[in-house]
Amino acid sequence: VAGGEEVTDFPSVTLVAITPDAESLIARSARTCYATNHLTSLEEDAKRIRDCIQRGHESILEHASATFAIGCSRVVTHELVRHRIAAYSQRSQRYVNESEPSYFTPPEIVKAGPVAGVWPSALEVYELAMDVAWRSYRELLVRGVPKQIARYVLPNACLTTIWATWNFREIRHIIKLRAGKEAQPEMQEVAKKILAIMLEEAPSVFGDLADRI
Ligand SMILES: Cc1cc2nc3c(=O)[nH]c(=O)nc-3n(C[C@H](O)[C@H](O)[C@H](O)COP(=O)(O)OP(=O)(O)OC[C@H]3O[C@@H](n4cnc5c(N)ncnc54)[C@H](O)[C@@H]3O)c2cc1C
Repeated sequence: VAGGEEVTDFPSVTLVAITPDAESLIARSARTCYATNHLTSLEEDAKRIRDCIQRGHESILEHASATFAIGCSRVVTHELVRHRIAAYSQRSQRYVNESEPSYFTPPEIVKAGPVAGVWPSALEVYELAMDVAWRSYRELLVRGVPKQIARYVLPNACLTTIWATWNFREIRHIIKLRAGKEAQPEMQEVAKKILAIMLEEAPSVFGDLADRI
């Protein structure tokens, strides 16, 4: 994902950058702790990493980091940025014109069945709310209201793109908190996509979390 490039698939997670040879770097840092600074096999490195994680010696994981481009609603970015050991860059509603409706529709809204005697459907109510929000936004711009003020009428459902950089320890922490059923469903999807990428990139570091997908 090039800088400034739009994400078009929501929710989506793209790996932008990652520490090269991350597991080897982490294993080397662990070897330093125990003054076993000789070259070891990949299998020994993997075992050392897994042992350290099991014992809670997780600072070694902070030497490696990854940057993701995440396309999701502002509901999810509001939750993501609560994770403080991070760097973030998000599409700005102060500077970018949001005249074109662009919003996340939760599958739960689509699936909400008809209720006897209640009209219109959940999806129709949802789409009406989005329509009113964007019409209002555009009408405010026409009246000379700046984007940074007009955006107050836009909903949480607004689609956005955020770049996030976290070290591996923080990524593990986020997955533990956000991939479980108690997390917001859209957030669960994002966390699971991050995990799927990290299982490919660093299986020794993330393998014990594989059952959370
Ligand atoms: C299911 C769920 C429900 C939630 N509900 C709410 C809610 O209703 N309202 C709400 O406001 N938030 C809510 N949150 C957000 C939550 O309180 C945290 O702000 C968020 O999950 C970030 O995680 P973290 O605090 O572990 O911080 P991170 O920034 O990810 O930090 C990682 C770890 O570093 C350590 N750390 C970081 N900063 C400090 C510090 N200043 N002092 C001490 N240790 C620190 C902690 O061990 C922390 O776990 C919810 C989160 C979840 C997962």
